[in-house]
Amino acid sequence: MSALPIPIVAQEACAVKTGPITTSGADRGQREVFCGLTGIIWLHRKMQDAFFLIVGSRTCAHLMQSAAGVMIFAEPRFGTAIIGERDLAGLADAHEELERVVTELLSRRPQIRTLFLVGSCPSEVIKLDLARAAQRLSQKYTPQVRILNYSGSGIETTFTQGEDACLRSLVDHLPARESSKPHLMVVGTLADVVEDQLRGLLNALGGFEVDFFPPRRSAELPGVSANTQFVLVQPFLADTARALQGKGASWIPAKYPLGSEGTTDWFLAIGKAMDLDESRVQEVIRAPRERAVKAVAAHRATLEGKSAFFFPDSQLELPLARFMHQELGMSVTEVATPYLHRGLMAPELAAIPADWTVHEAPDVDAQWDRCIEARPDLVICGLGLANPLEAHGLTTKWAIELVFTPIQGFEQAGDLAALFSRPLRRRMKLAA
Ligand code: SF4
Repeated sequence: MSALPIPIVAQEACAVKTGPITTSGADRGQREVFCGLTGIIWLHRKMQDAFFLIVGSRTCAHLMQSAAGVMIFAEPRFGTAIIGERDLAGLADAHEELERVVTELLSRRPQIRTLFLVGSCPSEVIKLDLARAAQRLSQKYTPQVRILNYSGSGIETTFTQGEDACLRSLVDHLPARESSKPHLMVVGTLADVVEDQLRGLLNALGGFEVDFFPPRRSAELPGVSANTQFVLVQPFLADTARALQGKGASWIPAKYPLGSEGTTDWFLAIGKAMDLDESRVQEVIRAPRERAVKAVAAHRATLEGKSAFFFPDSQLELPLARFMHQELGMSVTEVATPYLHRGLMAPELAAIPADWTVHEAPDVDAQWDRCIEARPDLVICGLGLANPLEAHGLTTKWAIELVFTPIQGFEQAGDLAALFSRPLRRRMKLAA
């Protein structure tokens, strides 16, 4: 696995955390999560003129096919160039084979504007140099098609890190921005409906220009300059954030826009960064915020006083636990995350109770024992752990659903709460 990313801000930002964080030594264990290829499922829906060509094995193809099973009736914007035995044995020139596949693909799909060559475990094991392949193919297809590469391999990345790697590869191609007006870049993949809602509120604030990254059309990348300030909607974009800083943009520290409180803080942080009166921001968000509070309250009766336990999976664990605690009145028995970026998480760490222990990449077996003993009301975990935990009589929620479902922003706060209340209601009905 790759190393813990370097904090984006000075380490002092962590001083806001008062509770312990376990992170290394005996408690640093394996992560039972998907690899970074999974990010293609939401990325390909977002960038409709892009194609993701996984250079991998049949296992990679099967993973993608089952994880994105709903796409089986549509022509998906991803595929797998299978590395065969001849490639593995060195009997075929893998670069030539790849070039042939790319040529076929681009002639069949002329609407593709960006082609991502996505590395996998097998391509890395045979040391297939996809950066060189992308460079060589770019010379042939530029300017019609931009060809980039990143790794989605399970050796290099976990689950949501695939999005970070993909966006990081795009940052180098962001054009310089000409306008000197204040500029906000919202970074992280959002469902279009959520993007539209947030854009409407940001435009209503006024006084700055707004872009979303990634854009819906990969060929229309937003510009970046020293006037650009960016805010994240996903907490797992450390490399992308660092690359944007390298281009002169500055990061706006904020909670993540989950729940009415998180979303309010997100807008207030943007308003502050853009020198807007707080009263102006409060006025613009008043109505959607009230709707969010009302929608969340409808689930509070089911969830208040219940306990939750997080296994590490999506890197969304900390903001979700904060939402449960702040807005649903739940207690959190344990919260664990595959990576804890102390800089990007500083506003969230400041919002959680001082006596919580945050586990970074805990040993799964030890955590399993703690979970069975604690018998929480709801366990948020990866697919692989859900069935065994249910067999022990525990109620689970698949972490992957929290990534696949639109949950950001005021209008989705009720849906987010429903993702937690539904399994508990189901359990209650079965027990009745
Ligand atoms: S990239 Fe690696 S972990 Fe992911 S599906 Fe392929 S072989 Fe499995």
